[in-house]
Amino acid sequence: METTDAFVGLECVDCGAEFDAAAETHRCPDCGGILDPSYDYDAIDLDRGMLESRPFDSMWRYEELLPFARESAVTMAEGATPLVDCPNLADELGVERVLIKDEGRNPTGTFKDRGQAVAVTAATQHGADDIALASAGNAGQAAAAYAGRAGLDSHVYLPSRSGFTNKAMVNVHGGDMNVVGGRIDDAGAAYEEGIEEHDDWYPVQTFVTPYRHEGKKTMFYEIVEQLDWEVPDAICYPTGGGVGLVGLYKAATEFRDLGLTDELPGLYAAQASGCAPIVEAYEEGRDEHEPVEHPDTICGGLEIPDPGASPWILDAIRETDGGAVATDDPDILDAAVQVAQHEGLEMVPSAAAAASGAWALAERGEFDGDETIVVLNTGSGNKEADVVRSHLMGQGI
Ligand SMILES: *Cc1c(COP(=O)(O)O)cnc(C)c1O
Ligand SMILES: [Zn+2]
Repeated sequence: METTDAFVGLECVDCGAEFDAAAETHRCPDCGGILDPSYDYDAIDLDRGMLESRPFDSMWRYEELLPFARESAVTMAEGATPLVDCPNLADELGVERVLIKDEGRNPTGTFKDRGQAVAVTAATQHGADDIALASAGNAGQAAAAYAGRAGLDSHVYLPSRSGFTNKAMVNVHGGDMNVVGGRIDDAGAAYEEGIEEHDDWYPVQTFVTPYRHEGKKTMFYEIVEQLDWEVPDAICYPTGGGVGLVGLYKAATEFRDLGLTDELPGLYAAQASGCAPIVEAYEEGRDEHEPVEHPDTICGGLEIPDPGASPWILDAIRETDGGAVATDDPDILDAAVQVAQHEGLEMVPSAAAAASGAWALAERGEFDGDETIVVLNTGSGNKEADVVRSHLMGQGI
């Protein structure tokens, strides 16, 4: 296995056991916990000047802090997305600055590309021929794209309610697409059956592979560099499984521990009221979520009723003095329209939950007025333009 110098292996988030990354590929063999890539940070020699001197060309410019080097990566130059100043939004929220990190400009139109780039690279390093996952849609599309690039077969399980673009593009990338009646849990059950029948399939499923949050963490490195090394006061993140949120937390801790920054940003989990297990656990002071029995939101990427990483997500929110906020679907769609009309940026509904959440936080007095706030636009508006357009239809427009 070809890895970067400082990458030492995988550590179980639950029991702390450590494993060799060539031998273990997915969950902890001792306790079933999530595995997290670990590094010998003393062996990493990075300063601000070194990073500034590199072209801002892809997330692989941080390869010392990734398990694999750019030259062995399955990459389409994902990452290096713009951080767009949104002065109208800042006025409306009553804060100093609002910036939107526009992850819609990734190869398949969402930040899922960052996670799949690393996960599919790991699959090739482990000699896999087939990858498999269940997904609300965007992760499946990204996986099929990266598998195609790497010459692997992909087996993608999507719920029937996932978006047309996702289904179409899994086919276009040559994936083996399985549309399952129902919601994400039903797709998950069909995927489990597939995995049981094919022991050579390599899962690239959320938190089953240790590498998706590792890819997504690069969003934080970029944000800080784009802000000239200022750590934003708050980052508003549309939370489903929480892969990106724990990635941001990990990256913020790494940059601080490497001496590149001094503090951590407040991390805010934004969810849709129809499926808000993290917000509920946060508000009730619990360390773990309770599964949502009847999840129902138009935000497919956020309709994750049973996010297994909730202890880690809640830890990230509390340790950074952040928070959690849920808003209703009509408010989320309104937020997508407001951002499109006043800032020009196009947000997919799941991502607009972060903008809507930021509004709700401002209304409840969470901010003083001098803050810099980053809102993550996790996916391009083109993915579900029809959903946002029909919201206007409902208003007679
Ligand atoms: C997957 C997805 C999310 C949620 O991501 P997690 O990292 O699993 O919390 C948010 N927005 C969009 C557009 C997504 O595709
Ligand atoms: Zn363990």
